[in-house]
Amino acid sequence: MIRSIPISAFIYLILLSSSSAQKLKRGDRMILANLETHIRFLADDKLEGRRAGTAGESAASNYISAEFHNAGLAMVGENKSWLQAFDINDGKQIEEATSLSVNNNNLTLYKDYFPLPFSANMKANGNIAIALQETGVPWVVDIKEMLEENKDNPHFDLQEALHTKVEECKKDGATAVIFYNDSKLPDHISFDPKNRSETATIPVLYATAEAKKKYFNDPSASLDIKINVVLGEKKRIGHNVLGYIDNGAEKTVVLGAHYDHLGYGEDGNSMYRGTEHLIHHGADDNASGTAALIELAKLLKQSKFKNNNYLFIAFSGEELGLFGSKYFVEHPIIDLKKVNYMINMDMVGRLNDSSHVLTIGGYGTSPEWGSLFNSNQNEKKYFILKYDSSGTGPSDHTSFYRKDIPVLFFFTGLHKDYHRPSDEADKINYTGELHVVKYIYQLIDDLNNKGKLAFSKTRENSTASSARFTVTLGIMPDYSFSGTGLRVDGISDGRPAQKAGLKAGDIIVQLGDISVNNMDTYMQALSKFKKGDATTVKYKRGTALQEAAVQF
Ligand SMILES: [Zn+2]
Repeated sequence: MIRSIPISAFIYLILLSSSSAQKLKRGDRMILANLETHIRFLADDKLEGRRAGTAGESAASNYISAEFHNAGLAMVGENKSWLQAFDINDGKQIEEATSLSVNNNNLTLYKDYFPLPFSANMKANGNIAIALQETGVPWVVDIKEMLEENKDNPHFDLQEALHTKVEECKKDGATAVIFYNDSKLPDHISFDPKNRSETATIPVLYATAEAKKKYFNDPSASLDIKINVVLGEKKRIGHNVLGYIDNGAEKTVVLGAHYDHLGYGEDGNSMYRGTEHLIHHGADDNASGTAALIELAKLLKQSKFKNNNYLFIAFSGEELGLFGSKYFVEHPIIDLKKVNYMINMDMVGRLNDSSHVLTIGGYGTSPEWGSLFNSNQNEKKYFILKYDSSGTGPSDHTSFYRKDIPVLFFFTGLHKDYHRPSDEADKINYTGELHVVKYIYQLIDDLNNKGKLAFSKTRENSTASSARFTVTLGIMPDYSFSGTGLRVDGISDGRPAQKAGLKAGDIIVQLGDISVNNMDTYMQALSKFKKGDATTVKYKRGTALQEAAVQF
Protein backbone atom coordinates (compact mmCIF):
# COMPACT_ATOMS: atom_id res chain seq x y z
CA MET A 1 0.00 0.00 0.00
CA ILE A 2 1.30 3.43 -0.81
CA ARG A 3 1.99 5.76 2.02
CA SER A 4 -0.98 8.04 2.53
CA ILE A 5 -3.85 8.47 4.90
CA PRO A 6 -7.13 8.09 3.10
CA ILE A 7 -9.95 10.22 4.37
CA SER A 8 -12.76 7.84 4.59
CA ALA A 9 -15.94 7.44 6.47
CA PHE A 10 -16.30 3.73 6.84
CA ILE A 11 -19.83 2.48 6.95
CA TYR A 12 -20.10 0.19 9.87
CA LEU A 13 -22.48 -2.50 8.90
CA ILE A 14 -22.20 -5.88 10.46
CA LEU A 15 -21.16 -7.04 13.85
CA LEU A 16 -20.96 -10.72 14.38
CA SER A 17 -19.01 -12.43 17.06
CA SER A 18 -16.42 -14.70 15.64
CA SER A 19 -16.72 -18.34 16.40
CA SER A 20 -13.97 -19.98 18.31
CA ALA A 21 -11.19 -21.71 16.48
CA GLN A 22 -12.41 -24.69 14.54
CA LYS A 23 -10.55 -27.67 13.31
CA LEU A 24 -9.45 -27.03 9.77
CA LYS A 25 -10.23 -29.40 6.95
CA ARG A 26 -7.39 -30.94 4.98
CA GLY A 27 -7.81 -28.59 1.99
CA ASP A 28 -7.71 -25.59 4.29
CA ARG A 29 -4.59 -26.86 6.06
CA MET A 30 -2.93 -27.06 2.63
CA ILE A 31 -3.86 -23.47 1.80
CA LEU A 32 -2.67 -22.34 5.22
CA ALA A 33 0.71 -24.04 4.74
CA ASN A 34 1.05 -22.60 1.22
CA LEU A 35 0.28 -19.06 2.37
CA GLU A 36 3.01 -19.34 4.94
CA THR A 37 5.50 -20.74 2.42
CA HIS A 38 4.82 -17.92 -0.06
CA ILE A 39 5.04 -15.16 2.53
CA ARG A 40 8.20 -16.55 4.13
CA PHE A 41 9.85 -16.74 0.73
CA LEU A 42 8.80 -13.28 -0.43
CA ALA A 43 9.62 -11.56 2.87
CA ASP A 44 13.00 -13.26 3.24
CA ASP A 45 16.19 -11.19 3.55
CA LYS A 46 17.37 -12.68 0.24
CA LEU A 47 14.75 -10.69 -1.64
CA GLU A 48 15.97 -7.47 -0.03
CA GLY A 49 12.55 -5.91 0.23
CA ARG A 50 11.46 -6.50 -3.40
CA ARG A 51 12.04 -2.95 -4.54
CA ALA A 52 10.66 -2.45 -8.07
CA GLY A 53 13.30 -2.84 -10.77
CA THR A 54 15.87 -4.63 -8.57
CA ALA A 55 17.21 -8.18 -8.32
CA GLY A 56 14.85 -8.73 -5.36
CA GLU A 57 11.88 -7.90 -7.55
CA SER A 58 13.18 -10.31 -10.16
CA ALA A 59 13.54 -13.16 -7.62
CA ALA A 60 9.97 -12.50 -6.50
CA SER A 61 8.59 -12.41 -10.05
CA ASN A 62 10.35 -15.72 -10.82
CA TYR A 63 8.71 -17.28 -7.78
CA ILE A 64 5.26 -15.97 -8.68
CA SER A 65 5.65 -17.08 -12.32
CA ALA A 66 6.57 -20.59 -11.17
CA GLU A 67 3.54 -20.68 -8.87
CA PHE A 68 1.27 -19.47 -11.67
CA HIS A 69 2.73 -22.19 -13.87
CA ASN A 70 2.08 -24.83 -11.19
CA ALA A 71 -1.46 -23.56 -10.81
CA GLY A 72 -2.03 -24.23 -14.52
CA LEU A 73 -2.38 -20.61 -15.61
CA ALA A 74 -1.55 -19.48 -19.15
CA MET A 75 1.14 -16.95 -20.06
CA VAL A 76 -0.33 -13.75 -21.48
CA GLY A 77 2.54 -11.31 -20.88
CA GLU A 78 4.89 -9.86 -23.48
CA ASN A 79 6.03 -12.36 -26.12
CA LYS A 80 4.00 -15.08 -24.40
CA SER A 81 5.94 -14.69 -21.17
CA TRP A 82 4.68 -14.19 -17.62
CA LEU A 83 5.87 -10.59 -17.52
CA GLN A 84 4.83 -7.13 -18.54
CA ALA A 85 7.68 -4.60 -18.26
CA PHE A 86 7.29 -0.90 -17.61
CA ASP A 87 9.59 2.06 -17.05
CA ILE A 88 10.02 3.63 -13.64
CA ASN A 89 11.27 7.15 -13.63
CA ASP A 90 14.03 7.16 -11.06
CA GLY A 91 14.72 10.86 -11.06
CA LYS A 92 17.66 12.52 -12.75
CA GLN A 93 21.20 11.51 -13.62
CA ILE A 94 24.29 13.35 -14.75
CA GLU A 95 25.06 12.36 -18.34
CA GLU A 96 28.61 11.79 -19.57
CA ALA A 97 28.62 14.86 -21.80
CA THR A 98 28.57 17.05 -18.67
CA SER A 99 31.82 18.97 -18.25
CA LEU A 100 33.49 21.89 -16.56
CA SER A 101 36.88 23.21 -17.62
CA VAL A 102 38.95 26.03 -16.18
CA ASN A 103 41.84 27.30 -18.33
CA ASN A 104 41.58 24.09 -20.33
CA ASN A 105 41.85 21.84 -17.25
CA ASN A 106 38.95 19.37 -17.24
CA LEU A 107 37.60 19.10 -13.72
CA THR A 108 36.60 15.67 -12.42
CA LEU A 109 32.91 15.04 -11.82
CA TYR A 110 32.05 14.66 -8.09
CA LYS A 111 35.66 15.04 -6.94
CA ASP A 112 35.87 18.64 -8.18
CA TYR A 113 32.34 19.60 -9.11
CA PHE A 114 28.86 18.46 -10.00
CA PRO A 115 25.83 20.17 -11.50
CA LEU A 116 22.90 20.74 -9.14
CA PRO A 117 19.77 18.78 -10.05
CA PHE A 118 17.79 21.92 -10.84
CA SER A 119 20.43 23.14 -13.32
CA ALA A 120 19.35 24.00 -16.86
CA ASN A 121 20.67 21.70 -19.58
CA MET A 122 22.91 24.22 -21.34
CA LYS A 123 26.39 25.30 -22.29
CA ALA A 124 28.01 28.48 -21.02
CA ASN A 125 31.48 29.86 -21.71
CA GLY A 126 33.43 32.96 -20.84
CA ASN A 127 36.64 34.61 -19.81
CA ILE A 128 36.10 35.82 -16.27
CA ALA A 129 37.60 37.20 -13.10
CA ILE A 130 35.67 35.98 -10.05
CA ALA A 131 35.62 39.42 -8.39
CA LEU A 132 34.14 41.24 -11.40
CA GLN A 133 30.80 39.45 -11.99
CA GLU A 134 30.37 40.91 -15.46
CA THR A 135 27.39 40.60 -17.76
CA GLY A 136 27.29 37.73 -20.24
CA VAL A 137 29.66 35.29 -18.51
CA PRO A 138 29.48 32.55 -15.85
CA TRP A 139 29.74 33.68 -12.22
CA VAL A 140 31.55 31.95 -9.37
CA VAL A 141 29.63 32.61 -6.16
CA ASP A 142 30.55 31.96 -2.52
CA ILE A 143 27.64 30.79 -0.29
CA LYS A 144 29.54 31.60 2.91
CA GLU A 145 27.49 34.67 3.75
CA MET A 146 24.19 32.94 3.05
CA LEU A 147 25.10 30.08 5.40
CA GLU A 148 26.47 32.25 8.19
CA GLU A 149 23.52 34.63 8.18
CA ASN A 150 21.09 31.74 8.52
CA LYS A 151 22.98 29.40 10.79
CA ASP A 152 20.46 29.85 13.63
CA ASN A 153 17.38 30.12 11.43
CA PRO A 154 15.34 26.89 11.73
CA HIS A 155 13.20 27.84 8.71
CA PHE A 156 16.17 28.38 6.39
CA ASP A 157 15.88 26.30 3.25
CA LEU A 158 19.23 26.19 1.44
CA GLN A 159 17.70 24.72 -1.73
CA GLU A 160 15.29 27.58 -1.99
CA ALA A 161 17.99 30.13 -1.21
CA LEU A 162 20.25 28.73 -3.97
CA HIS A 163 17.36 28.86 -6.43
CA THR A 164 16.66 32.49 -5.59
CA LYS A 165 20.33 33.37 -5.78
CA VAL A 166 20.67 31.82 -9.25
CA GLU A 167 17.77 33.84 -10.63
CA GLU A 168 19.18 37.03 -9.07
CA CYS A 169 22.59 36.40 -10.68
CA LYS A 170 20.89 35.72 -13.99
CA LYS A 171 19.02 39.02 -13.76
CA ASP A 172 22.31 40.79 -13.15
CA GLY A 173 23.87 39.19 -16.21
CA ALA A 174 25.27 35.78 -15.20
CA THR A 175 25.04 33.04 -17.87
CA ALA A 176 25.80 30.28 -15.33
CA VAL A 177 26.53 30.02 -11.60
CA ILE A 178 29.23 27.95 -9.94
CA PHE A 179 28.67 27.86 -6.18
CA TYR A 180 31.33 27.08 -3.62
CA ASN A 181 31.38 27.19 0.17
CA ASP A 182 34.23 29.13 1.76
CA SER A 183 32.74 28.98 5.27
CA LYS A 184 33.40 26.48 8.06
CA LEU A 185 29.70 25.55 8.04
CA PRO A 186 28.68 22.31 6.33
CA ASP A 187 26.22 22.77 3.45
CA HIS A 188 25.34 19.10 2.74
CA ILE A 189 24.95 19.92 -0.94
CA SER A 190 24.93 16.84 -3.14
CA PHE A 191 23.40 15.72 -6.40
CA ASP A 192 19.99 14.42 -5.30
CA PRO A 193 18.43 12.53 -8.23
CA LYS A 194 15.00 12.79 -6.60
CA ASN A 195 15.09 16.58 -6.48
CA ARG A 196 12.01 17.76 -8.33
CA SER A 197 12.37 21.49 -7.83
CA GLU A 198 11.77 23.83 -10.72
CA THR A 199 14.53 23.93 -13.32
CA ALA A 200 16.67 27.05 -13.32
CA THR A 201 17.08 29.13 -16.48
CA ILE A 202 20.91 28.82 -16.56
CA PRO A 203 23.44 26.10 -15.67
CA VAL A 204 24.12 25.71 -11.91
CA LEU A 205 27.14 23.85 -10.58
CA TYR A 206 28.83 23.27 -7.25
CA ALA A 207 32.61 23.30 -6.85
CA THR A 208 34.05 21.22 -4.01
CA ALA A 209 36.44 22.70 -1.46
CA GLU A 210 39.30 20.92 -3.20
CA ALA A 211 38.44 22.44 -6.60
CA LYS A 212 37.91 25.85 -5.03
CA LYS A 213 41.42 25.80 -3.60
CA LYS A 214 42.92 24.69 -6.88
CA TYR A 215 41.02 26.80 -9.43
CA PHE A 216 39.05 29.58 -7.76
CA ASN A 217 41.36 30.88 -5.03
CA ASP A 218 42.47 34.09 -6.71
CA PRO A 219 39.52 36.46 -7.19
CA SER A 220 41.31 38.61 -9.75
CA ALA A 221 42.88 35.85 -11.86
CA SER A 222 41.72 35.54 -15.45
CA LEU A 223 39.85 32.25 -15.91
CA ASP A 224 38.66 30.72 -19.14
CA ILE A 225 35.55 28.76 -18.15
CA LYS A 226 33.66 26.24 -20.26
CA ILE A 227 30.51 24.63 -18.89
CA ASN A 228 28.25 21.96 -20.35
CA VAL A 229 25.48 20.52 -18.21
CA VAL A 230 23.52 17.52 -19.52
CA LEU A 231 21.09 15.97 -17.08
CA GLY A 232 19.01 12.99 -18.19
CA GLU A 233 16.21 10.87 -16.85
CA LYS A 234 17.25 7.93 -14.78
CA LYS A 235 15.12 4.85 -15.36
CA ARG A 236 14.68 1.39 -13.97
CA ILE A 237 12.34 -1.29 -15.20
CA GLY A 238 9.54 -2.88 -13.19
CA HIS A 239 7.61 -6.03 -14.08
CA ASN A 240 3.99 -7.04 -13.58
CA VAL A 241 3.43 -10.82 -13.47
CA LEU A 242 0.35 -12.01 -15.36
CA GLY A 243 -1.41 -15.38 -15.45
CA TYR A 244 -4.67 -16.28 -17.15
CA ILE A 245 -7.48 -18.79 -16.88
CA ASP A 246 -9.29 -18.86 -20.21
CA ASN A 247 -12.76 -20.32 -19.74
CA GLY A 248 -13.86 -19.18 -23.21
CA ALA A 249 -16.18 -16.70 -21.48
CA GLU A 250 -17.02 -13.26 -22.77
CA LYS A 251 -16.03 -11.42 -19.59
CA THR A 252 -12.91 -11.51 -17.49
CA VAL A 253 -12.47 -10.99 -13.78
CA VAL A 254 -9.18 -9.40 -12.73
CA LEU A 255 -7.63 -10.37 -9.40
CA GLY A 256 -4.63 -8.32 -8.32
CA ALA A 257 -2.11 -7.80 -5.54
CA HIS A 258 1.13 -5.87 -5.66
CA TYR A 259 4.28 -7.83 -4.84
CA ASP A 260 6.82 -5.01 -4.75
CA HIS A 261 7.88 -3.35 -1.50
CA LEU A 262 10.31 -0.70 -0.29
CA GLY A 263 13.68 -2.43 -0.58
CA TYR A 264 15.92 -0.56 1.86
CA GLY A 265 13.61 2.44 1.75
CA GLU A 266 15.63 4.16 -1.00
CA ASP A 267 12.57 5.76 -2.57
CA GLY A 268 11.71 7.82 0.48
CA ASN A 269 8.52 5.94 1.35
CA SER A 270 9.71 4.32 4.58
CA MET A 271 8.34 5.20 8.00
CA TYR A 272 11.60 4.04 9.60
CA ARG A 273 13.50 7.03 10.98
CA GLY A 274 16.66 5.25 12.07
CA THR A 275 19.97 5.56 10.27
CA GLU A 276 20.78 1.88 9.73
CA HIS A 277 20.49 0.46 6.23
CA LEU A 278 17.73 -2.10 6.83
CA ILE A 279 15.68 -4.40 4.62
CA HIS A 280 11.96 -3.63 4.61
CA HIS A 281 10.50 -7.13 4.52
CA GLY A 282 6.96 -6.29 3.47
CA ALA A 283 5.39 -9.50 4.79
CA ASP A 284 1.96 -7.94 5.20
CA ASP A 285 2.60 -5.24 2.57
CA ASN A 286 2.17 -7.09 0.33
CA ALA A 287 3.58 -10.61 0.40
CA SER A 288 0.26 -11.39 2.10
CA GLY A 289 -1.85 -10.24 -0.86
CA THR A 290 0.52 -11.93 -3.31
CA ALA A 291 0.22 -15.23 -1.42
CA ALA A 292 -3.58 -14.89 -1.42
CA LEU A 293 -3.48 -14.22 -5.18
CA ILE A 294 -1.49 -17.41 -5.82
CA GLU A 295 -3.83 -19.53 -3.71
CA LEU A 296 -6.92 -18.04 -5.37
CA ALA A 297 -5.39 -18.84 -8.76
CA LYS A 298 -5.12 -22.50 -7.76
CA LEU A 299 -8.64 -22.58 -6.31
CA LEU A 300 -10.23 -20.89 -9.32
CA LYS A 301 -8.38 -23.09 -11.81
CA GLN A 302 -9.93 -26.12 -10.11
CA SER A 303 -13.35 -24.54 -9.61
CA LYS A 304 -16.58 -24.91 -11.54
CA PHE A 305 -16.96 -21.14 -11.91
CA LYS A 306 -16.67 -21.01 -15.69
CA ASN A 307 -18.82 -17.99 -16.58
CA ASN A 308 -15.85 -15.62 -16.44
CA ASN A 309 -12.22 -15.82 -17.46
CA TYR A 310 -9.78 -14.94 -14.70
CA LEU A 311 -6.73 -12.75 -15.05
CA PHE A 312 -4.28 -12.72 -12.13
CA ILE A 313 -1.88 -9.82 -11.90
CA ALA A 314 0.92 -9.40 -9.37
CA PHE A 315 1.73 -5.71 -9.77
CA SER A 316 5.09 -4.08 -9.26
CA GLY A 317 5.83 -0.39 -8.69
CA GLU A 318 2.80 0.01 -6.44
CA GLU A 319 4.78 1.53 -3.62
CA LEU A 320 6.08 4.22 -5.96
CA GLY A 321 2.55 5.33 -6.81
CA LEU A 322 0.59 2.49 -8.47
CA PHE A 323 3.04 2.39 -11.42
CA GLY A 324 2.36 -1.23 -12.45
CA SER A 325 -1.43 -1.07 -12.37
CA LYS A 326 -1.47 2.29 -14.13
CA TYR A 327 0.73 0.83 -16.85
CA PHE A 328 -1.49 -2.22 -17.15
CA VAL A 329 -4.73 -0.26 -17.63
CA GLU A 330 -3.02 1.85 -20.30
CA HIS A 331 -1.55 -1.26 -21.96
CA PRO A 332 -4.11 -3.96 -21.19
CA ILE A 333 -3.69 -7.36 -22.75
CA ILE A 334 -7.48 -7.80 -22.81
CA ASP A 335 -10.29 -5.41 -23.73
CA LEU A 336 -10.97 -3.46 -20.53
CA LYS A 337 -14.63 -3.10 -21.56
CA LYS A 338 -14.90 -6.83 -21.04
CA VAL A 339 -13.51 -6.75 -17.52
CA ASN A 340 -16.39 -7.68 -15.24
CA TYR A 341 -14.87 -6.50 -11.96
CA MET A 342 -11.51 -6.23 -10.23
CA ILE A 343 -10.55 -7.50 -6.77
CA ASN A 344 -7.45 -6.05 -5.11
CA MET A 345 -5.77 -7.48 -2.02
CA ASP A 346 -3.27 -5.24 -0.27
CA MET A 347 -2.24 -6.04 3.32
CA VAL A 348 -4.53 -8.93 4.18
CA GLY A 349 -2.20 -10.69 6.60
CA ARG A 350 -2.73 -8.90 9.88
CA LEU A 351 -6.31 -9.68 10.81
CA ASN A 352 -6.54 -8.50 14.39
CA ASP A 353 -7.55 -11.37 16.64
CA SER A 354 -9.43 -9.11 18.99
CA SER A 355 -11.13 -6.67 16.59
CA HIS A 356 -11.56 -9.08 13.63
CA VAL A 357 -11.94 -6.11 11.31
CA LEU A 358 -11.75 -6.76 7.57
CA THR A 359 -12.16 -3.59 5.53
CA ILE A 360 -13.71 -3.80 2.09
CA GLY A 361 -13.24 -0.76 -0.11
CA GLY A 362 -15.05 -0.04 -3.38
CA TYR A 363 -18.48 -0.85 -1.95
CA GLY A 364 -20.05 1.99 -3.98
CA THR A 365 -18.51 1.03 -7.35
CA SER A 366 -21.39 -1.28 -8.30
CA PRO A 367 -25.00 -1.31 -7.07
CA GLU A 368 -24.71 -5.09 -6.89
CA TRP A 369 -22.08 -5.25 -4.17
CA GLY A 370 -24.65 -4.42 -1.48
CA SER A 371 -26.84 -7.46 -1.98
CA LEU A 372 -23.75 -9.60 -2.32
CA PHE A 373 -22.43 -8.66 1.10
CA ASN A 374 -25.80 -9.26 2.65
CA SER A 375 -25.94 -12.79 1.34
CA ASN A 376 -25.00 -15.47 3.74
CA GLN A 377 -21.51 -16.69 3.07
CA ASN A 378 -20.37 -18.83 5.96
CA GLU A 379 -16.84 -17.33 6.01
CA LYS A 380 -18.35 -13.99 7.00
CA LYS A 381 -18.58 -15.09 10.60
CA TYR A 382 -14.84 -14.75 11.02
CA PHE A 383 -14.91 -11.01 10.43
CA ILE A 384 -16.31 -7.74 11.51
CA LEU A 385 -16.72 -6.21 8.07
CA LYS A 386 -16.24 -2.52 7.51
CA TYR A 387 -17.09 -0.94 4.23
CA ASP A 388 -15.67 2.04 2.42
CA SER A 389 -17.72 3.13 -0.57
CA SER A 390 -14.98 4.85 -2.55
CA GLY A 391 -13.43 3.21 -5.59
CA THR A 392 -10.21 5.09 -4.95
CA GLY A 393 -7.64 4.57 -2.25
CA PRO A 394 -3.96 4.00 -1.70
CA SER A 395 -3.66 0.87 -3.82
CA ASP A 396 -4.02 -0.63 -7.31
CA HIS A 397 -7.81 -0.96 -7.50
CA THR A 398 -7.81 2.83 -8.01
CA SER A 399 -6.30 2.37 -11.50
CA PHE A 400 -9.18 0.05 -12.49
CA TYR A 401 -11.88 2.21 -10.92
CA ARG A 402 -10.59 5.07 -13.07
CA LYS A 403 -11.42 2.93 -16.12
CA ASP A 404 -15.03 2.53 -14.93
CA ILE A 405 -14.57 -1.01 -13.66
CA PRO A 406 -16.31 -2.10 -10.42
CA VAL A 407 -13.67 -2.81 -7.79
CA LEU A 408 -13.31 -4.32 -4.34
CA PHE A 409 -10.33 -3.73 -2.09
CA PHE A 410 -9.56 -6.08 0.81
CA PHE A 411 -7.46 -4.85 3.72
CA THR A 412 -6.99 -6.08 7.30
CA GLY A 413 -5.78 -2.74 8.65
CA LEU A 414 -2.72 -0.66 9.45
CA HIS A 415 -0.31 -1.55 12.23
CA LYS A 416 2.85 -0.26 13.79
CA ASP A 417 5.08 -2.29 11.45
CA TYR A 418 3.59 -0.61 8.38
CA HIS A 419 6.39 0.50 6.01
CA ARG A 420 9.02 -0.41 8.54
CA PRO A 421 11.70 -3.10 8.44
CA SER A 422 9.71 -4.94 11.13
CA ASP A 423 6.85 -5.94 8.79
CA GLU A 424 7.97 -9.57 9.05
CA ALA A 425 6.57 -13.01 8.28
CA ASP A 426 6.42 -14.01 11.97
CA LYS A 427 3.78 -11.39 12.62
CA ILE A 428 1.31 -12.62 10.00
CA ASN A 429 -2.01 -14.03 11.12
CA TYR A 430 -2.00 -16.98 8.73
CA THR A 431 -5.34 -18.41 9.85
CA GLY A 432 -6.91 -14.97 9.50
CA GLU A 433 -5.55 -14.75 5.96
CA LEU A 434 -6.87 -18.21 5.14
CA HIS A 435 -10.37 -16.94 5.97
CA VAL A 436 -9.84 -13.83 3.83
CA VAL A 437 -8.92 -16.09 0.89
CA LYS A 438 -11.95 -18.29 1.47
CA TYR A 439 -14.26 -15.32 1.87
CA ILE A 440 -13.11 -13.82 -1.45
CA TYR A 441 -13.48 -17.23 -3.08
CA GLN A 442 -17.10 -17.42 -1.88
CA LEU A 443 -17.82 -13.94 -3.24
CA ILE A 444 -16.44 -14.99 -6.64
CA ASP A 445 -18.64 -18.09 -6.46
CA ASP A 446 -21.70 -15.91 -5.75
CA LEU A 447 -20.79 -13.69 -8.71
CA ASN A 448 -20.35 -16.53 -11.19
CA ASN A 449 -23.96 -16.36 -12.39
CA LYS A 450 -24.50 -12.64 -12.03
CA GLY A 451 -23.45 -11.52 -15.50
CA LYS A 452 -21.71 -8.21 -16.06
CA LEU A 453 -21.82 -5.97 -13.02
CA ALA A 454 -23.02 -2.41 -13.46
CA PHE A 455 -20.51 0.31 -12.62
CA SER A 456 -21.22 3.35 -10.50
CA LYS A 457 -19.08 6.35 -9.70
CA THR A 458 -18.26 7.06 -6.06
CA ARG A 459 -16.86 9.94 -4.10
CA GLU A 460 -13.07 10.29 -4.20
CA ASN A 461 -11.00 9.19 -1.30
CA SER A 462 -8.39 11.84 -1.01
CA THR A 463 -5.14 9.97 -0.77
CA ALA A 464 -2.81 12.82 -1.56
CA SER A 465 -2.32 13.76 2.04
CA SER A 466 1.15 15.08 1.40
CA ALA A 467 -0.14 17.43 -1.27
CA ARG A 468 -2.91 18.89 0.85
CA PHE A 469 -1.27 18.93 4.22
CA THR A 470 2.00 20.57 4.93
CA VAL A 471 2.27 19.03 8.39
CA THR A 472 1.68 15.66 10.01
CA LEU A 473 1.71 14.48 13.59
CA GLY A 474 3.42 11.25 12.62
CA ILE A 475 0.76 8.87 13.85
CA MET A 476 -0.92 5.88 12.37
CA PRO A 477 -4.64 6.08 12.94
CA ASP A 478 -6.65 3.05 13.98
CA TYR A 479 -9.18 2.72 11.17
CA SER A 480 -11.13 0.15 13.11
CA PHE A 481 -11.83 2.47 16.05
CA SER A 482 -15.49 3.43 16.08
CA GLY A 483 -15.63 5.62 19.21
CA THR A 484 -15.36 9.41 19.33
CA GLY A 485 -11.95 10.81 18.48
CA LEU A 486 -9.02 9.37 16.63
CA ARG A 487 -7.35 6.38 18.20
CA VAL A 488 -3.61 6.17 17.65
CA ASP A 489 -2.39 2.79 16.48
CA GLY A 490 1.25 3.68 16.10
CA ILE A 491 3.67 6.56 16.50
CA SER A 492 6.46 7.44 14.10
CA ASP A 493 9.87 7.92 15.67
CA GLY A 494 11.08 11.46 15.95
CA ARG A 495 7.88 13.08 14.69
CA PRO A 496 5.71 15.70 16.49
CA ALA A 497 3.34 13.22 18.20
CA GLN A 498 6.19 11.26 19.72
CA LYS A 499 7.91 14.43 20.86
CA ALA A 500 4.65 15.51 22.51
CA GLY A 501 4.63 12.25 24.45
CA LEU A 502 1.71 10.54 22.71
CA LYS A 503 1.57 6.77 22.75
CA ALA A 504 -0.21 4.04 20.84
CA GLY A 505 -3.68 3.63 22.32
CA ASP A 506 -4.19 7.34 23.02
CA ILE A 507 -7.37 8.85 21.57
CA ILE A 508 -6.93 12.35 20.12
CA VAL A 509 -10.02 14.48 20.78
CA GLN A 510 -8.81 17.99 20.02
CA LEU A 511 -6.09 19.67 17.99
CA GLY A 512 -5.73 23.41 18.56
CA ASP A 513 -9.27 24.81 18.69
CA ILE A 514 -10.79 22.03 16.65
CA SER A 515 -12.57 19.03 18.10
CA VAL A 516 -11.49 15.75 16.58
CA ASN A 517 -14.38 13.31 16.32
CA ASN A 518 -13.09 11.03 13.61
CA MET A 519 -10.62 10.72 10.73
CA ASP A 520 -12.26 13.48 8.69
CA THR A 521 -12.24 16.10 11.43
CA TYR A 522 -8.68 15.12 12.28
CA MET A 523 -7.60 15.80 8.70
CA GLN A 524 -9.53 19.07 8.69
CA ALA A 525 -7.78 20.12 11.89
CA LEU A 526 -4.35 19.20 10.49
CA SER A 527 -4.94 21.25 7.36
CA LYS A 528 -5.08 24.41 9.50
CA PHE A 529 -1.41 24.18 10.44
CA LYS A 530 1.84 24.72 8.65
CA LYS A 531 5.43 23.79 9.34
CA GLY A 532 6.83 25.61 12.36
CA ASP A 533 3.42 26.15 14.01
CA ALA A 534 2.92 25.21 17.64
CA THR A 535 -0.37 24.13 19.17
CA THR A 536 -1.85 21.82 21.78
CA VAL A 537 -3.30 18.37 21.43
CA LYS A 538 -5.91 16.97 23.83
CA TYR A 539 -6.11 13.23 24.14
CA LYS A 540 -7.56 10.51 26.29
CA ARG A 541 -5.28 7.97 27.87
CA GLY A 542 -7.47 5.43 29.55
CA THR A 543 -10.09 7.58 31.25
CA ALA A 544 -7.81 10.56 31.84
CA LEU A 545 -7.99 13.60 29.57
CA GLN A 546 -4.51 14.96 28.94
CA GLU A 547 -2.98 17.83 27.08
CA ALA A 548 0.39 18.31 25.44
CA ALA A 549 2.20 20.93 23.38
CA VAL A 550 2.91 20.03 19.77
CA GLN A 551 5.49 21.59 17.49
CA PHE A 552 5.04 20.90 13.76
ZN1 LIG B 1 2.94 -0.24 1.04
